[in-house]
Amino acid sequence: MAHSDTVALIVAAGKGERAGGGVPKQFQLLAGVPLVEHARRAFAAHPGVGRVITVLGEGQTAVGEIVVGGAARRDSVCNGLEAIGNAGRVLIHDAARPIVPASVIDRLLGALDRSAGAVPVVPVADTLAVGGDGLGDTVDRATLVRVQTPQAFDFAAILAAHRTWPASEEATDDAQILRRAGHAVATVAGDPLLDKITYPGDLALAEVRMGGGMRVRTAMGFDVHRLVVGEELWLGGVLIPHDKGLSGHSDADVALHAITDAVLGTIAAGDIGTHFPPSDPQWRGAESGQFLQHAAALVAAAGGMIDFVDLTIMCEAPKIGPWREPIRDRVAALLGLARDQISVKATTTERLGFTGRGEGIAAQAIVTARV
Ligand code: MG
Repeated sequence: MAHSDTVALIVAAGKGERAGGGVPKQFQLLAGVPLVEHARRAFAAHPGVGRVITVLGEGQTAVGEIVVGGAARRDSVCNGLEAIGNAGRVLIHDAARPIVPASVIDRLLGALDRSAGAVPVVPVADTLAVGGDGLGDTVDRATLVRVQTPQAFDFAAILAAHRTWPASEEATDDAQILRRAGHAVATVAGDPLLDKITYPGDLALAEVRMGGGMRVRTAMGFDVHRLVVGEELWLGGVLIPHDKGLSGHSDADVALHAITDAVLGTIAAGDIGTHFPPSDPQWRGAESGQFLQHAAALVAAAGGMIDFVDLTIMCEAPKIGPWREPIRDRVAALLGLARDQISVKATTTERLGFTGRGEGIAAQAIVTARV
């Protein structure tokens, strides 16, 4: 089946705040990225998935194609399925499971060749007992499994099953809805990495698990632009009032250029000139924020994540101090990181050299990423 026939539907309309942090769980940050975005990237990067749709609550926003959900999870899934229109297969996933191994998606899609539905399951390792007022009888765990998402379905079959499910009844998951409609649901091996984020400690554990297979990379970037009269001064994505501005082919934002080169360095993907040649007229006067976002997207596509940015701006004037926080905020926004992941420093060069004479501004950045 063509990959474009396979749609991933991420259900993220919940209001769950048990994980703490004061925002719905699906928007909490894991390694600086909202949970829902981790799941979206995993599906978008899988060669067997052609389209990713996220179901959100009213007024919520996320990256990519969005559908507004309903009051209960089942309403949200229904809205998502109806919005898909036409597809061969659908993977229905909960955003509270941010780490989606490609191997699980492979197994699920493989199982759909033989069955109208497939779910990932993991064995129950702990002893299970009836709780309550004192410890009751133990339960035979050999017959039990934990059912995870994503759950994979023949699109027409799950859509029909949802349409006929009684509105008054709750369902534990979509597999139950498909089984009620008379279809068999296959099981494939799940993965502990898919475990749901429910309580505050789960986020920290997920971050450790996520980083387990990754290598830390540190890379630097350096750039210089000339200061001239009659140009705007853009530094770190912020327009700073000054009697001179930086000259260059783009907006000449020397700070963003240094960070962009450092980000590209973490995946050994060349430098800013490789991706945005100064000889190309389309980059004349271009906002440098797009260069940085392109570099960050390449890191994300490589399965990496940026942990920290340390920027140093070298100039005699203007004074950078008052602009430090706005620059931190702007760089954080461009990279989808938190402000505490961005450090901005400045120094003069004691009136020495080209920066000391006010002829130009230099910037240096070091970026730490896990890839
Ligand atoms: Mg430059």
